Amino acid sequence: SKRLEGKKVLATAAGQGIGRAAALAFCREGAEVLATDINEPMLQRLQQEEPRLRIATLDVCDVQAIDRLASEEGEINVLFNCAGYVHHGTILDCTADAWRRSFDLNVTSAYQVTRAFLPAMLARGGGSIVNVASVASSVTGVPNRFAYGASKGALIGLTKAIAADFVGKGIRANAICPGTVQSPSLEERIRAQGDYEETRKAFVARQPMGRIGTPEEVASLAVYLASDESAFTTGAIHVIDGGWCI
Ligand code: NAD
Repeated sequence: SKRLEGKKVLATAAGQGIGRAAALAFCREGAEVLATDINEPMLQRLQQEEPRLRIATLDVCDVQAIDRLASEEGEINVLFNCAGYVHHGTILDCTADAWRRSFDLNVTSAYQVTRAFLPAMLARGGGSIVNVASVASSVTGVPNRFAYGASKGALIGLTKAIAADFVGKGIRANAICPGTVQSPSLEERIRAQGDYEETRKAFVARQPMGRIGTPEEVASLAVYLASDESAFTTGAIHVIDGGWCI
């Protein structure tokens, strides 16, 4: 039988990149997937590729929309909190707005979505929460990732706190910490630096394996953490970084 048979998954930021690959992988493993994103056209393309997926537009910063979706959907077994935003720069480049946006999208979103869906998860007797953080966090300091690293570190703390509070209630919460992963926003970040080839080389060089990871590789880890195969892990930091943090 398939690895996620009988499980209902809610994924945020599933329009592209890691979220999209994970939504497709959850679906292939037999889960009933609700793929959400702020970008409706991207969701429609995703559903064309995988008609078994359900889609819904969701801005993870819109508390009312989150609460509405939670009351419509009811029980969910797996929450995949994937929304995130990279602000480039040091503390000196980071305006109060950039700081706020980083925390809104990278931390508060996971708080709001989890708060909305956890009661039904608890009522059902358990579930798995998977939060996409980053090695740029409490795991390691990365140049020009000030607000990003601070907010992803907070997301790891959020994950561990939830894991500690609900470990006796069948709820698991884990953080995935990728290194550099191919995605549309990674391409934008490379292009934004000017010299494409040089910047790409620098991004590749962060991984001793000499390459950038694929969204599918992160999706495989997400499937494991969503499934009962990972029943003995909670509150853990799952690094997937091509050896960056060896
Ligand atoms: P991406 O950045 O290319 O795509 C992000 C998706 O989020 C888009 O589909 C976008 O429409 C959606 N989105 C943006 N704002 C939203 C909002 N308010 N509500 C809902 N959706 C919204 O994808 P990615 O690079 O794979 O990143 C996904 C996650 O993985 C992020 O949390 C990111 O921080 C994390 N991550 C990525 C890398 C990497 O190198 N790509 C490394 C470590 C961690």
